[in-house]
Amino acid sequence: MRNISEILTHLGEEREHYFQAVAPPVIQSSNFVFPDLAAFREVFADELTHHVYTRGNNPTVQILRQKLAALEGTEDSLVFSSGAGAVAAAVIANVRAGDHILCQQAPYSWTTALLRKFLPRFGVEHTFVDGTDIEQIRAAIQPNTRVLYLESPNTMTFECQDLAACAALAREHGMVTIIDNSYCSPLYQNPAAFGIDIVVHSGTKYLNGPSDVVVGVLCASQAMVRKIFESELMTLGGILGPHDAALVIRGLRTLPLRLQRSDDSARKIIDRLDKHPKVERIWYPFHHDFPQLELARKQMRGCGGLFSVQFKTDSPEKMEHFVHRLKRFLMAVSWGGHESLLIPTIGFYNIPGKPNPSLPWTFCRFYIGLEDPDWLWEDLEQAMEVL
Ligand SMILES: *Cc1c(COP(=O)(O)O)cnc(C)c1O
Repeated sequence: MRNISEILTHLGEEREHYFQAVAPPVIQSSNFVFPDLAAFREVFADELTHHVYTRGNNPTVQILRQKLAALEGTEDSLVFSSGAGAVAAAVIANVRAGDHILCQQAPYSWTTALLRKFLPRFGVEHTFVDGTDIEQIRAAIQPNTRVLYLESPNTMTFECQDLAACAALAREHGMVTIIDNSYCSPLYQNPAAFGIDIVVHSGTKYLNGPSDVVVGVLCASQAMVRKIFESELMTLGGILGPHDAALVIRGLRTLPLRLQRSDDSARKIIDRLDKHPKVERIWYPFHHDFPQLELARKQMRGCGGLFSVQFKTDSPEKMEHFVHRLKRFLMAVSWGGHESLLIPTIGFYNIPGKPNPSLPWTFCRFYIGLEDPDWLWEDLEQAMEVL
């Protein structure tokens, strides 16, 4: 694999083509000129690698694609207008009516919706399975299972799947493996190295970084990328525009620094939470109590800033009071940006027309951003007084 600094600073940046500018230009153009008929014919022979029209290919977007593929150690990549778009393209490209998808039991909410609500309309069925146990995955394989969908770790309780074992099992049964690798980012886990076929990301999270772009990433072999390009990308058209691509290139420059900072700060805060009397349990893949600690350490190089806490308290009113006392953490969805966040499970209780969640109301997911961890801890400590 290439050096990360080489990828982030040099790969794909053909500066001699744009006045030796250090930052790449935003090629804000929908279409590209064919100087003569020979060029016309050459370009249409392969739209994936030539410039015809920005739905298919754009030079700014292409710089980003090269960097992302290199970061994941795959031959090529595609980018989409959202992580959900990348997930949907990866799955849809590999199934047809009558097929079956096997999925770990708690993926991202809109991935669940894709399998539960969208694909059944087209005759594609699914089974959710406890992905922490390879034998349960094996037992759920049907003769028509075509896709094994993983998310390791997932982003509330961080359940992991054994990537090497899943890839081997899938190969044995002719299934395509897809993983949502958003939690780790390519810096902390490279599923392709374990034999996983397609790696998708919500680039909205760590890859971009400053919480200002929604973007999806799909990394795979040249053949798989070509198949998805010619079908899902070009027909559904969920592309990333050149301006957003330039913003994501800019975000990527600081990915190693940001991730290291979030990782360091999260560990600092977790160490203090560990000793706090109001903390019942901590979920974090590298935490000493994590049930899959050994597996997490085997396939991941770090965890980043996302973890969950179950607090010790006897009343939902106290939990609500705690949430409202936090002033430096923002209550918001998403994660992976500059800002520290919380999602309290109690917020999902008593929503009109929705069932209560399976997670207890004492549970909160935290994301630690780039702020001073001591300043964040002060906020947590004063809020925990009311529990
Ligand atoms: C946010 C997220 C997604 C969806 O990505 P968008 O960019 O919001 O469409 C998918 N998977 C995981 C794990 C996520 O956190």
